[in-house]
Amino acid sequence: MERTGGIVYLVGAGPGDPGLLTRRGAEVLARADVVVYDHLASPRLLDLAPASALRVCAGKSVGHCTMSQGAINALLVEHAREGRRVVRLKGGDPFVFGRGAEEAEYLHASGVPVQVVPGVTAGVGVSSYAGIPITHRDAASAVAFVTGHDDPESPGSPLPLDWQALARFPGTLVIYMGVTRLERLCRNLIRLGKPATTPAALVQSGTLATQRTVVATLADLASRASERGFGPPALVIIGEVVARRAALNWFEGLPLFGQRIVVTRPIGESDLASASLEALGAEALAAPTVTIEPPRDFQPIDEAIARLHSFDWLVFTSGNGVRHFLDRLEARGLDLRALGHLKLAAIGPATAEALGRYHLKADLVPDSFRSEALAEALSPHVAGRRVLLARADRGRAVLQDELRRVAQVEQVAVYRNLDAEAIDPVVLGRIAEGSVDWITLTSSAITERLHALLPVEASRRVGRSIRLASLSPVTSATAERLGWPIAAEANTYTWDGLVTAIVSRVALDRESARDVSDGPSVRPA
Ligand code: SAH
Repeated sequence: MERTGGIVYLVGAGPGDPGLLTRRGAEVLARADVVVYDHLASPRLLDLAPASALRVCAGKSVGHCTMSQGAINALLVEHAREGRRVVRLKGGDPFVFGRGAEEAEYLHASGVPVQVVPGVTAGVGVSSYAGIPITHRDAASAVAFVTGHDDPESPGSPLPLDWQALARFPGTLVIYMGVTRLERLCRNLIRLGKPATTPAALVQSGTLATQRTVVATLADLASRASERGFGPPALVIIGEVVARRAALNWFEGLPLFGQRIVVTRPIGESDLASASLEALGAEALAAPTVTIEPPRDFQPIDEAIARLHSFDWLVFTSGNGVRHFLDRLEARGLDLRALGHLKLAAIGPATAEALGRYHLKADLVPDSFRSEALAEALSPHVAGRRVLLARADRGRAVLQDELRRVAQVEQVAVYRNLDAEAIDPVVLGRIAEGSVDWITLTSSAITERLHALLPVEASRRVGRSIRLASLSPVTSATAERLGWPIAAEANTYTWDGLVTAIVSRVALDRESARDVSDGPSVRPA
């Protein structure tokens, strides 16, 4: 007997950039019991499903996880019949060359409810990120999405394409799955009457940090692409609109375009951090090395909260400290008025910002965001006063030691820093094979943990072919002590400061690369 409630959502994941998933897609993922996904460009989308959800890779393009269409269909039906909410996550849009319709028909015939969540199809998303408008008032009033699988030279396909009509088609041709037959495709279009001079482009891994584009004419696109080693997944775009790219190529010009950056911040902080990198054109890979947890024992923090009236200053050394302390305050049935008599100090702007989210203003934020500076700035204010330090269960003792010289100091661990047991295997693989450009280090604890978790081989690349960006001199010193040189260090010790440091470093590299490539053209008179 079928259990009620089972359903399959066919969800379009978009062409690669995780930001191109629709809100509806994110919603159904967040409530999924099972996710059956194709080989996806971004593992980040899977993080949107609950940790408890079963994740099944059905991808056809990766060697180690391949399932036949029949097996995928059977799996979807089985889970739905058990009453589960199943998300079938497919690249691009499920109904555009994705066999989504076949899956939906099979589910329908099996009596399983299906809903479809459209996605940004490659023809739209990839061309946009390549700076090519597929229609344009002055250049194209129609567009055709075509499969390159339907080979004009080997007829026999169930639904053969009329290539003669396509050669005469008055608009943009967007060809999916065409890269391996590119030479024949272009030659045939020319033979059937399409001008050899028509602008044409091939875009590989569109919308990702690894996006590459070659622009040529229909006559020489294939040879240009093979010279440069282009391969799947790639999209062919043919038509006058390709010429518009010269002015519209926004994505490949972003400051961090092409940079693949590992974010080692804890879960909960890594999403915003990753999004800020992606907004600048980078690929962000999340590999948390520590996790943040509430304290095991709330008694010390509850006691401190009960005696808040006996303190003069409340000092925070991290945004996590702010959140955990204030959330506990509320859990104890109190509100912000309990802090009314206290002066507040924050170690830096990020911590002050965390206070701001609770409508609290820091009375003191030192110019240089480290414990020594906070101690120095605070000392004159707290002399003879009673100070409560809300902090992590581990970390440096500098602040407390310094303040104790002049004030009565108590500290309470309001959250715990726990070591992750392992690095995300996908990211570890990428580090090991060297297909990563940067690793970000945002604290000494994170740096030490990363060092402990990386196998020796991978660790050797770090600080060399894989560069390190550090949040502060303290973090840099920890890394350097472990034999990892730092390539970029934040001037202001915040995440934004760290991103700015990477941007400047990348700009410098580009500048010197340009100098080298400009070199031969600057000939002596
Ligand atoms: N359902 C998908 C298409 C699946 S067919 C969609 O709507 O986009 C797979 C083909 O899509 C690839 O061979 C390639 O031509 C194209 N494609 C998908 N993602 C791409 C990407 N990120 N960059 C370039 N082409 C892509």
